[in-house]
Amino acid sequence: MQSFTISAKSRPGKLKRYTREHSAKLPEIVRLEVGAFKANCYVVYDPEGNCAVIDPGDDADFIEEKIRELNLVPKLVLLTHGHSDHVTAAPDIALAYSVPVYLNNKDAFLFRKASRFPGKLTGLKEGELLKAGELRVKVLEIPGHTPGSVALNLMGTPHVFCGRVFGENRFWLFR
Ligand SMILES: [Zn+2]
Repeated sequence: MQSFTISAKSRPGKLKRYTREHSAKLPEIVRLEVGAFKANCYVVYDPEGNCAVIDPGDDADFIEEKIRELNLVPKLVLLTHGHSDHVTAAPDIALAYSVPVYLNNKDAFLFRKASRFPGKLTGLKEGELLKAGELRVKVLEIPGHTPGSVALNLMGTPHVFCGRVFGENRFWLFR
C-alpha cells in the first residue's frame, strides 16, 4: 500500500492521463458551407484544440476565421477527393498553418488541375490511421466518384466524411 501511495504522488501526470473524464471527451465537429456550390467543409477537433480541416473547398478566409474563433491549432488538411469544390482553399490553409495536405495519390491529377499548390501532397492509403493530437481518422478507399475517393472515419464517433459518393455520382460526375 505504501509503495502505491508514493508512486501515485510522484507521478500525478501519469495518473491524470487515465482518468475517465479525460478520455471520454469526444471530438467536436463543425460543418462550414463554402464556395458557390455550398460544399461541406468540416473542422474536427479534440478537447485540446488540435484540429483537422476536411475538404476546404473554398473561402479560406472564412475557414481561418472559424479556426481563430474556436482557438484551434490545425494539424492537417484532409481531402476526400480531388475535385475543385473540395480542394480550392487547401493550399491557403496548408501554407497559413504549415500543415501537410493528405489526398489519395490517384486523385493528385485532379488536385493539380484545381489548384496551384507549390507543396508536396501526402498520399492516403486504404486502412491508414491518421493521428493529430487525440484525433484518429481511419481511411477507406471508395473509388467511384473519382478514382481516388476516400471515406474518412472519425474514430470514436459514428461520423464518416466521404465527399460525394454513390447515389449522387451521376449528378456530380462532371463537377
Ligand atoms: Zn466531386
